[in-house]
Amino acid sequence: MSSALAAVPVVIKPKNAGGCTDAPVLRERGQREVFCGLTGIIWLHRKIQDAFFLVVGSRTCAHLIQSAAGVMIFAEPRFGTAIIDERDLAGMSDANDELDRVVAQLLARRPDIKLLFLVGSCPSEVIKLDLSRAAQRLAGVHAPKVRVLNYSGSGIETTFTQGEDACLASLVPTLPATAEKSLMVVGSLADVVEDQFRRLFTAIGIDDVQFLPPRRAHLLPKVGPNTQYLLAQPFIADTARALEARGATRLEAPFPLGVEGTTAWLAAAAREWNVPADKLETAISPARTRATQALARIKPQLDGKRIFFFPDSQLEIPLARFLHRELGMELLEVGTPFLHRQHLASELAWLPEGTQLSEGQHVENQLDRCRAAVPDLVVCGLGLANPLEAEGMTTKWAIELVFTPIQGFDQAADLAGLFARPLHRRSLLAA
Ligand code: SF4
Repeated sequence: MSSALAAVPVVIKPKNAGGCTDAPVLRERGQREVFCGLTGIIWLHRKIQDAFFLVVGSRTCAHLIQSAAGVMIFAEPRFGTAIIDERDLAGMSDANDELDRVVAQLLARRPDIKLLFLVGSCPSEVIKLDLSRAAQRLAGVHAPKVRVLNYSGSGIETTFTQGEDACLASLVPTLPATAEKSLMVVGSLADVVEDQFRRLFTAIGIDDVQFLPPRRAHLLPKVGPNTQYLLAQPFIADTARALEARGATRLEAPFPLGVEGTTAWLAAAAREWNVPADKLETAISPARTRATQALARIKPQLDGKRIFFFPDSQLEIPLARFLHRELGMELLEVGTPFLHRQHLASELAWLPEGTQLSEGQHVENQLDRCRAAVPDLVVCGLGLANPLEAEGMTTKWAIELVFTPIQGFDQAADLAGLFARPLHRRSLLAA
């Protein structure tokens, strides 16, 4: 999907305060090359194992998630599309009646579904189908067996990770209330990563850790004025706002990517729970040492290599920090769709001074800058990767970084490997 808007690059230059905390940001608007928020369904449906995502959209929407999801031969998929056809668009049929019928059929056939998301799309918004009222109506019909929520995955002015943010934000009002002190990790993580973090938190002395999204609909975390939350993903600003509206407080930390990020992320929780430094050190040092040694083996492949980030996943700034500080990569430009300065404060402070940051996209201008910079590696969306490869550049698909377990100590080397592999492949082709 792409949109064309007037090109209005704006450079904002506040005073510099070390790292990239107050660094100038090149703000651009123009044609963009991103997937829409429906893409988030691909990892969310794997995470919440009894949820179903019903996109109310067009055949284009159906194709997008089918092709992004790959082949689902062995399991009944937990996402689908209720197609809005010409009769709906022409106002010749009642889309609400159709939707009720489709949902009733689906739930009768799939008693395993406990949480149903109605996911809005560009077509449902064009015909002004009110999915929030539809969700309330259907919740009344199908409660208490099935909870029905809605969010929008439409994509003209968004980027693909915003789908997860919208989905999690829709869950927040349904979370049970608590006044107890608790830790919530917010942002979807692969189950294997979640298990590792749970073990580390237990070793540190923080037992009751909850995760949003949960693995099952009935395991929703509790929230209240004594809930402290750690962001596991940098793209969930609306969810964070909704949690804070329910009294929760964010723990300031970088994101758990690489050894440094993971250490600081765990340490932020340890500080809040008054865990002694030696207890934290004892708990994390075996995994941290393993990760440091594994990274040292990969570093020679990345050290000194020049990398250029197009804006796509919103993971760009934490990734750039990791690749520069722990693997010695040179940052040519770090583009991000949105720059949330508050949530990225620790990350920005860790970027090297003088890093070219950009927010938003005017793809033609950015391609010109990329070609002029002659990077060794370009991180970009699928739409740009093939043309850039054809020009002789080496690329890494940003979307792979969201589908792959990359957080935590035990995944640090895998994450570095995702960047080393395309360079290795290119060197084999050139040999
Ligand atoms: S929601 Fe909009 S941008 Fe996304 S696939 Fe459907 S029509 Fe395309």
